[in-house]
Amino acid sequence: MKAARYHGVRDIRLEEISEPVTGSGQVKIRVHFNGICGSDLHEYFHAPMMSPMTPHPLTGVTVPVVLGHEFSGEVVEVGPAVAGLSVGDKVAVEPTVNCRRCAACLAGSYNLCREIAAVGYSWPGGGGLGEYAVVDADHCYQLPAGMSTREGALIEPLAVALHAVRRGEVQADHAVAVHGAGPIGIGVFLTLRAYGVDNITVIEPSAARRAAIEAVGATDIIDPTASDVVAELRERTDGAGVARSFDTGGAPATFLNAVRSTAARGRVVVVAVHQRPVEFNPTEILFGECEIVGSIAYCHDYPEVIDLMARGAFPYDSWVQTVPFEDVVTVGMEALRNQTAIKILVDMTNLS
Ligand SMILES: [Zn+2]
Ligand SMILES: [Zn+2]
Repeated sequence: MKAARYHGVRDIRLEEISEPVTGSGQVKIRVHFNGICGSDLHEYFHAPMMSPMTPHPLTGVTVPVVLGHEFSGEVVEVGPAVAGLSVGDKVAVEPTVNCRRCAACLAGSYNLCREIAAVGYSWPGGGGLGEYAVVDADHCYQLPAGMSTREGALIEPLAVALHAVRRGEVQADHAVAVHGAGPIGIGVFLTLRAYGVDNITVIEPSAARRAAIEAVGATDIIDPTASDVVAELRERTDGAGVARSFDTGGAPATFLNAVRSTAARGRVVVVAVHQRPVEFNPTEILFGECEIVGSIAYCHDYPEVIDLMARGAFPYDSWVQTVPFEDVVTVGMEALRNQTAIKILVDMTNLS
Protein backbone atom coordinates (compact mmCIF):
# COMPACT_ATOMS: atom_id res chain seq x y z
CA MET A 1 0.00 0.00 0.00
CA LYS A 2 1.00 3.64 -0.34
CA ALA A 3 2.09 5.57 2.73
CA ALA A 4 3.93 8.73 3.73
CA ARG A 5 6.59 7.75 6.23
CA TYR A 6 8.58 10.04 8.50
CA HIS A 7 12.28 9.21 8.53
CA GLY A 8 13.56 12.43 10.11
CA VAL A 9 13.74 16.18 9.69
CA ARG A 10 12.97 17.17 6.07
CA ASP A 11 12.66 13.50 5.22
CA ILE A 12 9.14 12.26 4.57
CA ARG A 13 9.01 9.60 1.86
CA LEU A 14 6.02 8.44 -0.16
CA GLU A 15 6.64 4.72 -0.14
CA GLU A 16 5.14 1.37 -1.00
CA ILE A 17 4.93 -0.70 2.21
CA SER A 18 3.07 -3.80 3.33
CA GLU A 19 -0.41 -3.48 4.79
CA PRO A 20 -0.78 -3.63 8.58
CA VAL A 21 -2.27 -6.82 9.99
CA THR A 22 -5.49 -6.70 12.00
CA GLY A 23 -5.08 -8.14 15.50
CA SER A 24 -7.48 -9.06 18.27
CA GLY A 25 -9.59 -6.11 19.38
CA GLN A 26 -8.59 -4.17 16.30
CA VAL A 27 -10.06 -3.02 13.02
CA LYS A 28 -8.51 -2.20 9.67
CA ILE A 29 -9.52 1.13 8.21
CA ARG A 30 -9.35 2.29 4.62
CA VAL A 31 -8.33 5.90 5.26
CA HIS A 32 -10.42 8.60 3.54
CA PHE A 33 -9.06 11.93 4.80
CA ASN A 34 -6.14 12.89 7.02
CA GLY A 35 -5.44 16.37 8.36
CA ILE A 36 -1.92 17.75 8.56
CA CYS A 37 -1.25 19.05 12.07
CA GLY A 38 1.06 21.72 13.44
CA SER A 39 2.91 18.95 15.24
CA ASP A 40 3.57 17.23 11.89
CA LEU A 41 5.13 20.48 10.68
CA HIS A 42 7.26 20.61 13.79
CA GLU A 43 8.51 17.06 13.15
CA TYR A 44 9.24 17.80 9.51
CA PHE A 45 10.80 21.25 9.69
CA HIS A 46 12.32 21.40 13.18
CA ALA A 47 12.94 18.25 15.18
CA PRO A 48 11.28 14.98 16.13
CA MET A 49 9.20 15.68 19.21
CA MET A 50 6.63 12.89 18.86
CA SER A 51 8.44 10.46 16.55
CA PRO A 52 10.57 7.96 18.48
CA MET A 53 14.21 7.89 17.36
CA THR A 54 14.77 5.08 19.90
CA PRO A 55 12.16 2.38 20.64
CA HIS A 56 9.03 3.91 22.19
CA PRO A 57 8.60 2.61 25.77
CA LEU A 58 4.98 1.62 25.23
CA THR A 59 4.85 0.43 21.61
CA GLY A 60 8.49 -0.35 20.79
CA VAL A 61 8.16 1.62 17.54
CA THR A 62 11.10 3.51 16.02
CA VAL A 63 11.12 5.71 12.90
CA PRO A 64 10.39 5.34 10.05
CA VAL A 65 6.73 5.47 10.89
CA VAL A 66 3.58 6.25 8.88
CA LEU A 67 2.53 9.82 9.68
CA GLY A 68 -1.00 11.08 10.20
CA HIS A 69 -3.08 11.20 13.37
CA GLU A 70 -6.12 13.26 12.30
CA PHE A 71 -8.08 10.83 10.20
CA SER A 72 -11.30 9.19 9.25
CA GLY A 73 -12.18 6.28 7.01
CA GLU A 74 -14.18 3.14 6.51
CA VAL A 75 -13.84 -0.11 8.43
CA VAL A 76 -12.80 -2.83 5.96
CA GLU A 77 -11.86 -5.64 8.33
CA VAL A 78 -12.88 -6.48 11.89
CA GLY A 79 -10.52 -8.50 14.08
CA PRO A 80 -11.51 -11.05 16.74
CA ALA A 81 -13.05 -9.81 20.00
CA VAL A 82 -14.44 -6.60 18.53
CA ALA A 83 -17.96 -5.56 19.46
CA GLY A 84 -19.97 -2.72 18.02
CA LEU A 85 -18.12 -2.15 14.74
CA SER A 86 -18.82 -3.68 11.34
CA VAL A 87 -17.31 -3.59 7.88
CA GLY A 88 -18.58 -0.48 6.12
CA ASP A 89 -18.83 1.70 9.22
CA LYS A 90 -17.46 5.22 8.78
CA VAL A 91 -15.29 6.20 11.72
CA ALA A 92 -13.01 8.88 13.15
CA VAL A 93 -9.97 7.66 15.06
CA GLU A 94 -8.83 8.91 18.45
CA PRO A 95 -5.08 8.46 17.93
CA THR A 96 -3.61 8.70 21.42
CA VAL A 97 -2.51 5.37 22.87
CA ASN A 98 -2.03 5.05 26.60
CA CYS A 99 -0.60 2.49 28.98
CA ARG A 100 -3.79 2.02 31.04
CA ARG A 101 -1.72 1.45 34.21
CA CYS A 102 0.07 4.71 35.24
CA ALA A 103 -1.46 7.02 37.84
CA ALA A 104 -2.93 9.37 35.21
CA CYS A 105 -4.47 6.51 33.23
CA LEU A 106 -5.92 4.92 36.37
CA ALA A 107 -7.40 8.31 37.31
CA GLY A 108 -9.11 8.47 33.91
CA SER A 109 -6.89 11.28 32.54
CA TYR A 110 -5.48 9.19 29.74
CA ASN A 111 -4.25 12.26 27.84
CA LEU A 112 -1.69 12.71 30.62
CA CYS A 113 -0.32 9.15 30.39
CA ARG A 114 3.37 9.03 31.27
CA GLU A 115 4.09 6.71 28.34
CA ILE A 116 1.65 8.16 25.85
CA ALA A 117 2.03 7.04 22.24
CA ALA A 118 0.06 8.05 19.18
CA VAL A 119 -1.14 6.58 15.94
CA GLY A 120 0.75 8.57 13.31
CA TYR A 121 3.93 8.87 15.37
CA SER A 122 4.65 5.83 17.48
CA TRP A 123 2.15 3.16 16.50
CA PRO A 124 2.95 -0.05 14.63
CA GLY A 125 -0.37 -0.27 12.74
CA GLY A 126 0.19 2.64 10.35
CA GLY A 127 -1.35 6.10 10.38
CA GLY A 128 -3.67 8.40 8.52
CA LEU A 129 -1.22 9.02 5.69
CA GLY A 130 -1.33 5.37 4.68
CA GLU A 131 -3.90 3.67 2.51
CA TYR A 132 -4.84 1.42 5.42
CA ALA A 133 -4.36 1.71 9.17
CA VAL A 134 -5.01 -0.83 11.91
CA VAL A 135 -6.15 0.64 15.22
CA ASP A 136 -7.74 -0.59 18.43
CA ALA A 137 -11.50 -0.76 17.95
CA ASP A 138 -12.13 1.25 21.10
CA HIS A 139 -10.29 4.18 19.52
CA CYS A 140 -12.90 4.38 16.74
CA TYR A 141 -15.91 6.63 16.89
CA GLN A 142 -18.70 5.99 14.43
CA LEU A 143 -19.77 8.95 12.36
CA PRO A 144 -23.50 9.55 12.47
CA ALA A 145 -25.54 9.21 9.26
CA GLY A 146 -25.04 12.25 7.09
CA MET A 147 -21.62 13.18 8.46
CA SER A 148 -18.93 12.98 5.79
CA THR A 149 -15.51 11.47 6.35
CA ARG A 150 -14.13 14.89 5.35
CA GLU A 151 -15.79 16.27 8.50
CA GLY A 152 -14.69 13.16 10.35
CA ALA A 153 -11.04 14.06 9.84
CA LEU A 154 -11.64 17.40 11.60
CA ILE A 155 -12.87 15.80 14.80
CA GLU A 156 -9.35 15.34 16.23
CA PRO A 157 -8.24 19.02 16.07
CA LEU A 158 -11.72 20.13 17.18
CA ALA A 159 -11.40 17.80 20.18
CA VAL A 160 -8.14 19.61 21.07
CA ALA A 161 -10.10 22.87 20.95
CA LEU A 162 -13.06 21.57 22.92
CA HIS A 163 -10.78 20.14 25.59
CA ALA A 164 -9.11 23.55 25.94
CA VAL A 165 -12.48 25.23 26.40
CA ARG A 166 -13.33 22.68 29.09
CA ARG A 167 -9.99 23.37 30.79
CA GLY A 168 -10.97 27.05 30.74
CA GLU A 169 -14.20 26.34 32.67
CA VAL A 170 -15.83 29.04 30.61
CA GLN A 171 -19.27 30.37 31.49
CA ALA A 172 -21.66 31.86 28.96
CA ASP A 173 -21.41 35.35 30.45
CA HIS A 174 -17.60 35.44 30.40
CA ALA A 175 -15.64 37.87 28.25
CA VAL A 176 -13.16 35.69 26.39
CA ALA A 177 -10.11 36.40 24.23
CA VAL A 178 -8.72 33.92 21.71
CA HIS A 179 -5.12 34.72 20.80
CA GLY A 180 -4.53 33.16 17.37
CA ALA A 181 -6.95 32.13 14.61
CA GLY A 182 -5.27 28.99 13.31
CA PRO A 183 -7.23 25.72 13.28
CA ILE A 184 -7.23 25.42 17.08
CA GLY A 185 -8.14 29.08 17.58
CA ILE A 186 -11.02 28.69 15.13
CA GLY A 187 -12.09 25.49 16.92
CA VAL A 188 -11.97 27.25 20.29
CA PHE A 189 -14.04 30.13 18.90
CA LEU A 190 -16.68 27.79 17.43
CA THR A 191 -16.86 25.70 20.60
CA LEU A 192 -17.30 28.85 22.71
CA ARG A 193 -20.13 29.94 20.41
CA ALA A 194 -21.72 26.50 20.72
CA TYR A 195 -21.54 26.91 24.50
CA GLY A 196 -23.45 30.18 24.27
CA VAL A 197 -20.54 32.56 24.86
CA ASP A 198 -21.22 35.85 23.03
CA ASN A 199 -18.42 38.12 24.14
CA ILE A 200 -15.42 36.72 22.25
CA THR A 201 -12.54 38.79 20.90
CA VAL A 202 -10.12 37.14 18.49
CA ILE A 203 -6.55 38.42 18.09
CA GLU A 204 -4.79 37.47 14.85
CA PRO A 205 -2.05 39.20 12.82
CA SER A 206 -2.71 37.39 9.50
CA ALA A 207 -5.34 39.04 7.28
CA ALA A 208 -6.23 35.66 5.72
CA ARG A 209 -6.84 34.10 9.11
CA ARG A 210 -8.86 37.09 10.29
CA ALA A 211 -11.05 36.70 7.18
CA ALA A 212 -11.43 32.96 7.81
CA ILE A 213 -12.63 33.36 11.38
CA GLU A 214 -14.85 36.27 10.40
CA ALA A 215 -16.46 33.95 7.85
CA VAL A 216 -17.47 31.55 10.63
CA GLY A 217 -19.02 34.31 12.71
CA ALA A 218 -16.36 36.24 14.63
CA THR A 219 -17.25 39.93 14.85
CA ASP A 220 -14.71 41.30 17.34
CA ILE A 221 -11.28 40.84 15.81
CA ILE A 222 -8.07 42.69 16.65
CA ASP A 223 -5.03 42.95 14.41
CA PRO A 224 -2.17 42.98 16.94
CA THR A 225 0.15 44.64 14.43
CA ALA A 226 -2.16 47.65 14.30
CA SER A 227 -3.23 48.11 17.91
CA ASP A 228 -2.23 47.57 21.52
CA VAL A 229 -3.91 44.26 22.33
CA VAL A 230 -3.77 44.56 26.12
CA ALA A 231 -5.08 48.14 26.15
CA GLU A 232 -7.81 47.26 23.67
CA LEU A 233 -9.02 44.22 25.64
CA ARG A 234 -9.00 46.19 28.88
CA GLU A 235 -10.97 48.98 27.23
CA ARG A 236 -13.55 46.49 25.97
CA THR A 237 -14.04 45.20 29.51
CA ASP A 238 -14.20 48.52 31.39
CA GLY A 239 -10.64 48.06 32.52
CA ALA A 240 -11.23 44.69 34.18
CA GLY A 241 -9.70 42.43 31.55
CA VAL A 242 -11.26 39.28 30.12
CA ALA A 243 -12.31 36.38 32.32
CA ARG A 244 -10.73 33.74 30.09
CA SER A 245 -7.87 33.83 27.58
CA PHE A 246 -6.70 31.16 25.18
CA ASP A 247 -3.14 31.10 23.88
CA THR A 248 -3.54 29.12 20.67
CA GLY A 249 -0.74 30.96 18.89
CA GLY A 250 2.31 29.70 20.73
CA ALA A 251 4.31 32.90 20.33
CA PRO A 252 5.78 35.02 23.14
CA ALA A 253 3.34 37.83 22.28
CA THR A 254 0.25 35.59 22.38
CA PHE A 255 1.19 34.27 25.81
CA LEU A 256 2.19 37.64 27.30
CA ASN A 257 -0.81 39.47 25.85
CA ALA A 258 -3.07 36.74 27.24
CA VAL A 259 -1.59 37.00 30.73
CA ARG A 260 -1.64 40.81 30.76
CA SER A 261 -5.23 41.19 29.58
CA THR A 262 -6.82 38.60 31.86
CA ALA A 263 -8.98 39.79 34.73
CA ALA A 264 -8.34 39.21 38.43
CA ARG A 265 -8.98 35.53 39.28
CA GLY A 266 -9.20 34.91 35.54
CA ARG A 267 -7.69 31.99 33.70
CA VAL A 268 -5.28 31.65 30.80
CA VAL A 269 -5.34 28.38 28.89
CA VAL A 270 -2.16 27.49 26.98
CA VAL A 271 -3.05 25.14 24.12
CA ALA A 272 -0.10 25.70 21.80
CA VAL A 273 3.39 24.30 21.53
CA HIS A 274 5.86 27.15 22.05
CA GLN A 275 9.01 26.84 19.96
CA ARG A 276 11.04 28.99 22.31
CA PRO A 277 11.00 30.19 25.92
CA VAL A 278 9.11 33.33 26.93
CA GLU A 279 10.66 35.86 29.26
CA PHE A 280 8.00 36.25 31.90
CA ASN A 281 8.02 37.54 35.46
CA PRO A 282 5.64 35.42 37.55
CA THR A 283 4.91 38.50 39.64
CA GLU A 284 2.58 39.43 36.81
CA ILE A 285 0.09 36.81 37.97
CA LEU A 286 0.53 37.59 41.64
CA PHE A 287 -1.56 40.71 41.96
CA GLY A 288 -4.56 39.46 40.01
CA GLU A 289 -4.31 35.89 41.34
CA CYS A 290 -4.54 34.81 37.74
CA GLU A 291 -4.33 31.13 36.82
CA ILE A 292 -2.38 29.70 33.90
CA VAL A 293 -3.32 26.17 32.89
CA GLY A 294 -2.16 23.84 30.16
CA SER A 295 -4.40 21.82 27.87
CA ILE A 296 -3.12 18.84 25.94
CA ALA A 297 -4.96 16.74 23.40
CA TYR A 298 -8.36 15.41 24.57
CA CYS A 299 -9.83 13.08 27.11
CA HIS A 300 -13.39 11.78 26.64
CA ASP A 301 -14.04 14.73 24.29
CA TYR A 302 -14.78 13.01 20.96
CA PRO A 303 -18.49 12.22 21.60
CA GLU A 304 -19.28 15.85 22.38
CA VAL A 305 -17.41 17.10 19.31
CA ILE A 306 -19.30 14.64 17.12
CA ASP A 307 -22.58 15.73 18.66
CA LEU A 308 -21.84 19.43 18.12
CA MET A 309 -20.63 18.74 14.58
CA ALA A 310 -23.84 16.86 13.77
CA ARG A 311 -25.72 19.97 14.90
CA GLY A 312 -23.75 22.18 12.52
CA ALA A 313 -21.53 23.91 15.08
CA PHE A 314 -18.35 23.61 13.00
CA PRO A 315 -18.59 25.22 9.55
CA TYR A 316 -15.29 24.65 7.78
CA ASP A 317 -15.43 25.95 4.20
CA SER A 318 -13.47 29.10 5.02
CA TRP A 319 -10.52 27.42 6.68
CA VAL A 320 -10.12 23.88 5.31
CA GLN A 321 -8.77 22.85 1.93
CA THR A 322 -7.88 19.49 0.41
CA VAL A 323 -4.80 18.24 -1.41
CA PRO A 324 -4.10 14.89 -3.09
CA PHE A 325 -1.79 12.40 -1.37
CA GLU A 326 1.06 13.03 -3.84
CA ASP A 327 1.18 16.67 -2.72
CA VAL A 328 1.30 16.08 1.03
CA VAL A 329 4.83 17.44 1.43
CA THR A 330 5.39 19.66 -1.61
CA VAL A 331 2.09 21.51 -1.31
CA GLY A 332 0.62 20.58 2.06
CA MET A 333 3.52 21.08 4.46
CA GLU A 334 4.85 24.08 2.57
CA ALA A 335 1.50 25.88 2.39
CA LEU A 336 0.96 25.47 6.11
CA ARG A 337 4.43 26.72 6.90
CA ASN A 338 4.02 29.74 4.61
CA GLN A 339 0.57 30.31 6.04
CA THR A 340 -1.01 30.25 2.60
CA ALA A 341 -3.35 27.61 4.04
CA ILE A 342 -4.93 27.23 7.50
CA LYS A 343 -5.94 23.56 7.57
CA ILE A 344 -5.15 20.97 4.96
CA LEU A 345 -6.82 17.60 4.59
CA VAL A 346 -5.06 15.02 2.49
CA ASP A 347 -7.51 13.15 0.27
CA MET A 348 -6.61 9.47 0.55
CA THR A 349 -9.64 8.19 -1.37
CA ASN A 350 -8.18 7.94 -4.88
CA LEU A 351 -4.53 7.01 -4.64
CA SER A 352 -3.02 6.49 -8.06
ZN1 LIG B 1 -3.03 17.08 15.59
ZN1 LIG C 1 -0.64 5.69 31.34
